[in-house]
Amino acid sequence: MKKVDILGVEFDFTTQQEILNILQDKIERNKKAFVVTANPEIVMYANKDPQYMHTLQFANHIIADGVGVILGSKIVRQPLPERIAGFDLMIELLSIANQKGLRVFFLGASEQTLEKMIPKIKRDYPKLVIAGYHHGFFKGHEHKVKQMVKEAKADLVFVALGYPKQEEWIQKNIDSFEKGIFMGIGGSFDILAG
Ligand code: UDP
Repeated sequence: MKKVDILGVEFDFTTQQEILNILQDKIERNKKAFVVTANPEIVMYANKDPQYMHTLQFANHIIADGVGVILGSKIVRQPLPERIAGFDLMIELLSIANQKGLRVFFLGASEQTLEKMIPKIKRDYPKLVIAGYHHGFFKGHEHKVKQMVKEAKADLVFVALGYPKQEEWIQKNIDSFEKGIFMGIGGSFDILAG
C-alpha cells in the first residue's frame, strides 16, 4: 500500500472503503494487523516521544483521523484521499462483525462504561459474538489480561486505553496472539456507552 509520510508518521493512502476491504480480507485469512487511527495530536506526540514513534513503526496501517492530517498531506504535496475517523471505522467494523458473526474483544475504558456499552452492543449488533471484554485499568494484572485476549481468539480487538498506552499495549502483546485486527480507539467506548 502507498504510504504518505507526515512528520515521520507513515499514513496509508486509502479511503475508508478500501481499508475496510483490506481489513476484511485479513480477517478472512486469519491474518493479524495493528491499526492506528492517528490525529494531529498523535503525530505531534510521536515527534516529542521517540519511544512512541518507534511503536508506530510497528503498525500495519496508520489511518488519517482528522482534517489536520489531511491538511498536512496537502502541505507535503501528497494529498490523502479522505479523512477516516477512528470512531466511524470502528462502527463500520462492528456492522461487518454483525453481518458475519465475527468475534470481537473490547479492552479499555472504565468498568462503568463497559457496563453501559456491552448491553448496547448486544442490542445493536446481535449477531456479533462478544469474545470478551475487560476494563482498561489493569496495572499489576497485565498477564491475566493478555491471557484473556489470547484465549478469546477474537477477529477484532478494540483497545480503548487512550494514546500512547493503547498502541504500546498492542505493540508489546500482538506477537502473543494468533490472529485479529488490533485497533487503538481512544475514548470511543465512552461515546458508545452514551
Ligand atoms: N483509559 C483506560 N486506561 C487507562 C487510561 C485511559 O482504559 O489507563 C480509557 C479511558 O477510560 C477512556 C480512554 O481510555 O475511555 C481514553 O480516552 P481519551 O479520549 O482520553 O483518549 P484519546 O482519544 O486522547 O486517545
